[in-house]
Amino acid sequence: MNGIAGKGVLVTGAASGIGRATVERLLAEGATVVGVDVAQDPPDGLSAYLRADVTDSGAVGAAVDAVVDVAGRLDGVVHSAGVAGGGPVHLVPDEEWDRVIGVNLTGTFRVTRAALNQMMKQDRVDGERGSIVNLSSIEGLEGTAGGSSYNASKGGVVLLTKNTAIDYGPSGIRANAICPGFIETPLFESVVGIPGMEGAREGLRHEHKLRRFGRAEEVAAVATFLLSRDASFVSGQAIAVDGGYTAGRDHGVTELMGLGEQ
Ligand code: NAD
Repeated sequence: MNGIAGKGVLVTGAASGIGRATVERLLAEGATVVGVDVAQDPPDGLSAYLRADVTDSGAVGAAVDAVVDVAGRLDGVVHSAGVAGGGPVHLVPDEEWDRVIGVNLTGTFRVTRAALNQMMKQDRVDGERGSIVNLSSIEGLEGTAGGSSYNASKGGVVLLTKNTAIDYGPSGIRANAICPGFIETPLFESVVGIPGMEGAREGLRHEHKLRRFGRAEEVAAVATFLLSRDASFVSGQAIAVDGGYTAGRDHGVTELMGLGEQ
């Protein structure tokens, strides 16, 4: 992809799912990548790996510094660390609400702030100082049954990203959110794989107009694009990578018209 080789990039949530696939894609494109995750097993090929929590400001700052140490600057961030959660509001305990908002929304704030503080100090390369990509969700664009804290956190990520694009665009920093549909990762399995969810799983699959779930590599490709020179005029967007999930309702009419799965 255009202009990824040699870039210094921080990937959070680097040990699993979308973050891991993004690390692999960026490395294949020749980027220098530092990973952050609370998990123990980083992917191969990272220049540095910090086992750290994205809600820890000091650790996030150290991760940004690690990118600058190995690459000389911070060209991009893909912030993929996140947790599932939620439940009907009247049953959600304070600590569960705080956990989900803490990791997903406050973590995004802390990573964005640390990235901006570094990017603002850098000279422009190819007209820009850096690109920030945050993982939101289709559940940050519309409601979902039982979504509560998760949807609230991901909706917050969309608007925090848009505000970042507004405030720092004049400084040559782009910010975009990716809103994936349901992607087959460990997080997905922790929600959709629980006993009793078989019917809901099929309903969810059907809601994607391509009639399948997504793959982590398909999201990693868009994250890599958003860091690349090919996306040099893309900022402030919430980009659905969702197989048509948010395109609109089907109500079974495609089947009636003879346009069902074939
Ligand atoms: P995943 O569970 O496979 O990977 C998430 C990674 O984040 C894990 O390695 C985990 O250890 C790490 N992590 C969690 N909390 C952390 C913390 N506090 N500090 C540092 N690391 C932490 O999940 P995934 O499916 O790859 O999801 C990646 C992102 O995409 C998340 O933000 C998620 O909400 C979002 N997303 C996923 C889907 C999906 O269907 N998989 C859909 C929409 C959005």
